[in-house]
Amino acid sequence: MEFRTVQFHQRKHVALVAHDNKKRDLLEWAKYNRETLAEFEIYATGTTGLLLQETLDLPIIRFKSGPLGGDQQIGAKIAEGEIDFLVFFWDPLEPQPHDPDVKALLRIAQVWNILIATNRVSADFIISSPLIRETYQRRVPVYKRNISALMRG
Ligand code: PGA
Repeated sequence: MEFRTVQFHQRKHVALVAHDNKKRDLLEWAKYNRETLAEFEIYATGTTGLLLQETLDLPIIRFKSGPLGGDQQIGAKIAEGEIDFLVFFWDPLEPQPHDPDVKALLRIAQVWNILIATNRVSADFIISSPLIRETYQRRVPVYKRNISALMRG
């Protein structure tokens, strides 16, 4: 597998998503970290974004609600290199109608090697890292070369 490096945005782009039983947790976390989040470009799924807007009074780029395609919209932004940091408080104890989308979002975030926090403790550690305000090179896969190797096969 070939890789290339890309740089995180100077002003980090963060996507926030929380399942219903985790929304309170995410809102508390976001409120506590409002000052840092104010330095970021914030994206969110529909309901999470609405609640964040009310709580933080910051501009939020809102997508559709998760079960209606919002997770996939965030996944697409990750694939396009728009998102540096995914905070996704997913619920491991409740079945979700959009479970395939949940899995797809976690997978694509892993493929593109972005910051991923799936619980509060990870989100706390990441947002308080000195690196959060630095530029940083992350490795991303280059699929094109692999395809041409297959053709040579
Ligand atoms: P929501 O979607 O923010 O619209 O509730 C979150 C999700 O379930 O992915």
